[in-house]
Amino acid sequence: MSYQALYRKFRPETFQDVKGQDAIITTLKNQIKSGRIGHAYLFTGTRGTGKTTVAKIFAKAVNCETPAEDGSPCGNCAVCKGISDGSLMNVAEIDAASNNGVDNIRSIINEVSYSPTMGKYKVYIIDEAHMLSAGNGGAFNALLKTLEEPPAYVIFILATTEVNKVPVTILSRCQRYDFHRMSIDTMADRMKELVQIEGAEAEDRALRFIARTADGSMRDALSLLDQCLAFHFGQALTYDMALDVLGAVDSGVYISFMEKILKQDLSGAIGILDDQIMRGREISAFINDFIWHMRNMLLLNSADSSEADIADVLGVSTDTLEQLKSLSKKVDADSLMRFIRIFSELSGEIRYTPQKRVLTEIAIVKLMRPQMEEDLSSVKQRLAQIERKVNKMEADSAKVLQNAAGIAAATRAVPAKPDAPVPDALPEDVQLVVSNWKRIIKNANPVLKGFLELTEPSTDGKRLIIKCMNDVAAGTLKEDFDRDLLDEVFAKELHKKVEYEIYTPSKNEGMNETYPDLSSFINDEIEIVESPDEEST
Ligand SMILES: [Zn+2]
Repeated sequence: MSYQALYRKFRPETFQDVKGQDAIITTLKNQIKSGRIGHAYLFTGTRGTGKTTVAKIFAKAVNCETPAEDGSPCGNCAVCKGISDGSLMNVAEIDAASNNGVDNIRSIINEVSYSPTMGKYKVYIIDEAHMLSAGNGGAFNALLKTLEEPPAYVIFILATTEVNKVPVTILSRCQRYDFHRMSIDTMADRMKELVQIEGAEAEDRALRFIARTADGSMRDALSLLDQCLAFHFGQALTYDMALDVLGAVDSGVYISFMEKILKQDLSGAIGILDDQIMRGREISAFINDFIWHMRNMLLLNSADSSEADIADVLGVSTDTLEQLKSLSKKVDADSLMRFIRIFSELSGEIRYTPQKRVLTEIAIVKLMRPQMEEDLSSVKQRLAQIERKVNKMEADSAKVLQNAAGIAAATRAVPAKPDAPVPDALPEDVQLVVSNWKRIIKNANPVLKGFLELTEPSTDGKRLIIKCMNDVAAGTLKEDFDRDLLDEVFAKELHKKVEYEIYTPSKNEGMNETYPDLSSFINDEIEIVESPDEEST
């Protein structure tokens, strides 16, 4: 017999086997027990959280002739067996991702008019329901007509990962259930159970690491577990093996990345990023893992060094722990927090942009040059740098310290002086404004904001170009608003002065045609190379 994936082999058949969705399961069981079954359900949530599994159990349960006390299907009656082996047509599963045409839904709807030959209900499970075609004459419309007056024996279960794409007319006719991401504990416990049933062995730490990597998806967790067990077949799965199989060998990479940053070695740090991209790693995964490592360093920095179980809390191997410990002594908690903040912002920003690599490089530059930022934590870091330099000097110490105190006082005074001149924005600042336009304009006064929403930002490499979608917006922005109001919006964001131009495309000029080439606003010293992950986004 061919190998069956753990995820399929142990797919829950009864309600009690479903893990981590207790509230949903309780509600559905109660509906079955009380006979108050709805006609349309919407199951939403990220992949691998059990939407389709629960839909299948529910579909069987409403039809089962001898359900268990908790409402679960018995699995043995003629109806349960018929559904399982496909001889009964009571349950139909439609994958909207592949059959998104209106014809497909029409054929279902024609079929809906015939009542089931056995069992009480016909259940239609529509997976990836957000992929159904919208608009007039679309699949959603055809479905809507049936949802308005469904025959008593029909139940629709729509499952989707993107509920925001489902039309509100459909949503309003469905009972909605939100499937939550699984907790690390839930997934680790389930894996522990399955490992035992399979007669294999695995360290708890290994399972927890797999659970963390799976990020809330039980399906992913079990696939990763499959990989690990297959790779080390017949051996007890250790934490280090799991790290190895899942390509998480990189702790060393993050450690040397951090070392380069602390040494202000820009080309070294970008070289490491390059190397990771060449190996096919996703930039966003790299960033998130690096944040995780910085978080570990921060915990080590703040923790009592005698704590024995710190390795468990951090979820790192013993070797890595030693390296992290010595590295965390070289950097103070304030700087780490600043690094984490910069990279967390980056992680949010790059999700929707094709320029992932450039933004990442800018963030690396920011980490190394606290003088680019004016907030308190970067000033602290600058002070720390000055202090370090001071400590190195031995001779003539009194004089040197006197100078340093002067510098420190001057640095400290920068954010305190309200009237200090606002520095001009650098090209990378302007680029940040462009990338974050939607968020930044939220800070504007409400009327100004209304007009700014009718604009698209770009840059000519130095200035911000605010392109208006119509003459009214352009006229109003140019003439009716004081430039101070807009300056304030940028100052709030960057503490810098952004030079800008308000621009209306001429009548026969397309909105997108005259955009400056993206590469023109990149600093010359940073070279853009297409990274492999950009194509998939
Ligand atoms: Zn049954």
